Amino acid sequence: MSAKTAFDLIFRHAVTQSSAVPADIGVSDGRIAAIAPHLESEAPEIDLGGKLVLSGFVDTHLHLDKACLLGRCGHEHGSLGDAIAAVAAMKRDFAIEDIYARGARVLERAIVAGTTRIRTHVEIDPRIGLRGFEAIKALKRDYAWAIDLSTCAFPQEGLTNDPGTEELLVAALCDGADLIGGCPYTDTDPHAQIEKLFDLAQAFDVDVDLHLDFDLDPSWWHLDEVCRQTERRNYQGRVAIGHATKLSALPPRQFDAAATKLARAGVAVTVLPATDLYLMGRDATHNSPRGLTVAHRLVEKGVVCSVATNNVLNPFTPFGDASLLRMANFYANVAQASVGEFDACLDLVTALPARLMNLGDYGIAVGNPADIIVLDTTSGRDAIAELPDVLMGFKQGRKVFERQKAVLFRP
Ligand SMILES: [Zn+2]
Repeated sequence: MSAKTAFDLIFRHAVTQSSAVPADIGVSDGRIAAIAPHLESEAPEIDLGGKLVLSGFVDTHLHLDKACLLGRCGHEHGSLGDAIAAVAAMKRDFAIEDIYARGARVLERAIVAGTTRIRTHVEIDPRIGLRGFEAIKALKRDYAWAIDLSTCAFPQEGLTNDPGTEELLVAALCDGADLIGGCPYTDTDPHAQIEKLFDLAQAFDVDVDLHLDFDLDPSWWHLDEVCRQTERRNYQGRVAIGHATKLSALPPRQFDAAATKLARAGVAVTVLPATDLYLMGRDATHNSPRGLTVAHRLVEKGVVCSVATNNVLNPFTPFGDASLLRMANFYANVAQASVGEFDACLDLVTALPARLMNLGDYGIAVGNPADIIVLDTTSGRDAIAELPDVLMGFKQGRKVFERQKAVLFRP
């Protein structure tokens, strides 16, 4: 085979985050085989005309199993406790087919919004049993052509106070759960839950991703204990905490100290803007706090951070389209990011969450899977500013979706 025909597909004139000068990307056997100013080839080609390509968005925190529930519950809830109770009451009756159908609806929206990798948190306890986990396993298998789904098994309603939960978590880990999560603030003994989760993580050699410090009272938190356990077990780089809204309530000096602690312990932080803004600061009558931890400031201090979706259309967050580009734009707006920081905001839904998930094969680089999305813009900065359409997406070099440009019918 000559060098001329060594590719299955060529993307011509693609701009990447690292190079504003358009280049060609050659794909072979589902992988990026070459990147150069001009590739000689007779392979089929797609001329991108200088548009921005990314390896797809990476969503580190998404609850597929309890998505799309707005039609079946009252809408008077408002607090975090109300949301947990509302879903707890509903999930006893969840059937696998129902969870699958709701999850598929969100997954398909995520795919056409350009997401190529997802970590999904699945509730495991005696009420739901392993039905949620079974549904997610089926989704992971059935949508593998479009998206890599990583499954995080976790107890939403407590572990040490909820007999039977630990055995179910172990069953999920034995049956292919990719990592373990938790929610210490719903446990009667939060530190014991953290200890137990780390024990399980080590026993199964999986990463840890916890819901943590989800209120605006910085006078107490579980962050110290998570950092301590991470360091004690040499788990640096394998632990993430989601929400961490308490950090948003810290003045600069304490914020910097917390960032230093997180960076040293190798504990990553996931900010969930839609939920954090919806649920935090509800007791304020005016001047409501945002309740959003400013992730890009943590990144400056060496903390790996992501911005993620969390919930879609349920009592925790009655909004959602599973678009991470929209979420990054929303984050940038609320976090008052400057234009010069927009690229850093895009990193929060691309390269940084890939690092958080320890994905060794993410990015537009030779040798990586040809997971490629094309945005209708020419730079990362403009992607955050303008919310361009995601025009098309490829998984391992195979086209997964294409969006038609809107047409104006002038009179
Ligand atoms: Zn969550």
